[in-house]
Amino acid sequence: MVEKIDIEDLGGNEELMFVKFFQHFHCYDIIPISAKLVVFDTQLLVKRAFFALVENGARAAPLWDSTKHQFVGMLTITDFIHILRTYYKSPLVHMEELEEHKLETWRNVLETKVKPLYSIGPEASLYEAIKTLIHEKVHRLPVIDPLTGNVLYVLTHKRILKFLFLYMSDLPSPSYLSKTLKNLKIGTYENIATIKESTPVIMALNQFIERRVSALPIVNDKAKVVDIYAKFDVIYLAAERTYNNLDVTVKKALQYRSECFEGVLKCKVDDTLKAVLEKMVDSEVHRLVIVDQEDRVVGIISLSDILKFLVLHPAGEKTKL
Ligand code: ADP
Ligand code: ADP
Ligand code: AMP
Repeated sequence: MVEKIDIEDLGGNEELMFVKFFQHFHCYDIIPISAKLVVFDTQLLVKRAFFALVENGARAAPLWDSTKHQFVGMLTITDFIHILRTYYKSPLVHMEELEEHKLETWRNVLETKVKPLYSIGPEASLYEAIKTLIHEKVHRLPVIDPLTGNVLYVLTHKRILKFLFLYMSDLPSPSYLSKTLKNLKIGTYENIATIKESTPVIMALNQFIERRVSALPIVNDKAKVVDIYAKFDVIYLAAERTYNNLDVTVKKALQYRSECFEGVLKCKVDDTLKAVLEKMVDSEVHRLVIVDQEDRVVGIISLSDILKFLVLHPAGEKTKL
């Protein structure tokens, strides 16, 4: 299959390499033979839903409306953050709404702010999937079978990049992969949202939503990066049932993070794109923190920056955030 994609076929335009690659493959090509999928009915209690995400080791779930007989949305950790931000007052005031609301009630509270469900068919190309993920600014894209209406899989940036890497060694290597981040100017280098270890969790949650970022590097008084708080880590508040006190520091909240954590994954502006890609695929993280010689934060490179650079920009897609 991949032999068909050759630099020669691209009229010598190596920039189109990954565009062609992702236009060539369909969403069904990327679906693993066996994968666990968690789906929630909108009648489920909000609190139960987040506990169920934890229990199933899932990061997100499609939402089924049994009255409409269709999937109507997604539930992600960002939604948990929205709910906590909306109802949290102080450690002394119980969040009744979190105890009592069904997913449906919460979606009604949001009303106009709730997004329509973005989904894709298995026959669509991976290029279309990347376009939807980036343009709609979501991190989860359900693949829905048009015949049965069933969700087959939930696509993410991570899965897409991993799939590309399965074929990487069979593909001609575009010369820009050997260039540095500094040359290519991929990532965000201004106005990086950071926090301190002493930042209260509620303030970190506010930053996630107000700055629309998926992780906050944690810096010390010398501006050196010492840790990272990702949206994903907010799930530990549900896992440990500690969400009733969001005045605690992020340092305390992170004590429950998995023992596998081996420190912040970083890179430098002088690293090549190839080295950065390899690090992200190997470590399975959504972003690297870009640091200088003294470990001070200078930027962030996330999988969405990479997919824009490799796929959408060469195809002429405009992707202003
Ligand atoms: P996270 O990074 O926490 O997994 P996302 O960035 O994907 O979350 O989600 C941001 C918001 O968009 C959430 O309210 C979520 O419910 C919603 N959302 C995520 N994926 C989809 C989708 N495919 N269709 C509609 N809404 C979605
Ligand atoms: P998701 O699969 O939801 O996109 P993330 O990659 O954002 O998840 O985060 C998964 C876990 O990896 C979290 O515990 C987070 O703290 C950790 N993590 C995320 N980015 C980094 C990084 N650059 N360095 C080290 N750990 C990270
Ligand atoms: P993501 O949500 O990680 O896919 O990233 C969306 C955009 O936000 C990308 O351009 C990232 O470089 C940028 N970004 C991610 N985290 C931060 C942060 N903490 N501060 C500033 N920009 C960020």
